Amino acid sequence: MAWSRFRKKKDMPEGLWVKCRSCNQTLYTKELLANLQVCHHCGFHAHQSARERAITLVDPRSFIEMWDDLYTQDLLDFVDKEPYPEKIRKTATRSGLTEGAVAGTGTIDGKPVTICCLDFSFMGGSMGAVVGEKVTRAIELAADERIPAIVVSCSGGARMHEGMLSLMQMGKTSAAIARLNREKGLYLSVLANPTTGGVMASFAALGDVIFAEPGALIGFAGPRVIQETLRTELPEGFQTAEFLREKGFIDRIVLRKDLRAEIGKVIDFLWAYPEEQIERYAPPPPPPEEEGPEGDDGVGENAESLATTAADGEDATPAESDEKAE
Ligand SMILES: [Zn+2]
Repeated sequence: MAWSRFRKKKDMPEGLWVKCRSCNQTLYTKELLANLQVCHHCGFHAHQSARERAITLVDPRSFIEMWDDLYTQDLLDFVDKEPYPEKIRKTATRSGLTEGAVAGTGTIDGKPVTICCLDFSFMGGSMGAVVGEKVTRAIELAADERIPAIVVSCSGGARMHEGMLSLMQMGKTSAAIARLNREKGLYLSVLANPTTGGVMASFAALGDVIFAEPGALIGFAGPRVIQETLRTELPEGFQTAEFLREKGFIDRIVLRKDLRAEIGKVIDFLWAYPEEQIERYAPPPPPPEEEGPEGDDGVGENAESLATTAADGEDATPAESDEKAE
């Protein structure tokens, strides 16, 4: 019987296919991973986990994670639906992350950088003390080492569970960037979907060059709040990356697959490295069997290496997240 040729739905391994949130097409998870979580039908840039992003943004094998031993403390004894430490514990188990940011060093076109990426699947990428500390350390290390800093923001804003301590991170990260600026350092900010609230009102907006991913929602307060406060119709495309580029706030909108090359060009143009710095951060050579075909830009290789550490966390979207932007 013809039906027997089809596997029953319940026999299908879970997580093999996902639906694109924009065009509703079914996508093969592995293919999506290799394509940096960008839908190959409509080009929608879906959420990419922080570790995935850090590994694929820099040269293959060059990312070295740092400060992964920082853990959140519940100094306010905060309880909403459940105690804050319990919420952190559950989120950490689900996402495979200890906190909402992954930071470290890597190279782009062989040039060393510090990098910090925020993860929206970890409590909406909200900025608590640990996220703020990781961003600050990445910026401070860049100042000390005389190398550029890159921060990829993807956040709903400050983390209400940490109250004032969360808001303090805006001042702390901004002060670190001010110091980097005084010392004539280079700081590149990348805005992914979404970048809002206290993150947008601090380090995300302070880049010497600001990149954004296509279609990213970028702003401080949500459009409804603004509309109700101003009692006026908002222009079309308000708070999208494209709108903000038109208004001069964003320098470039770059496809995820082109981001490494674009950042490489900007660094090449704006930064001069001492030779020994380049040697010190050089990634280890590839194992012989990993050597790809000529002309491989490393993206495929990165995706391969990601396959084993594939984000097992949920793919949260702004609409689905219950996290509150500040
Ligand atoms: Zn799509």
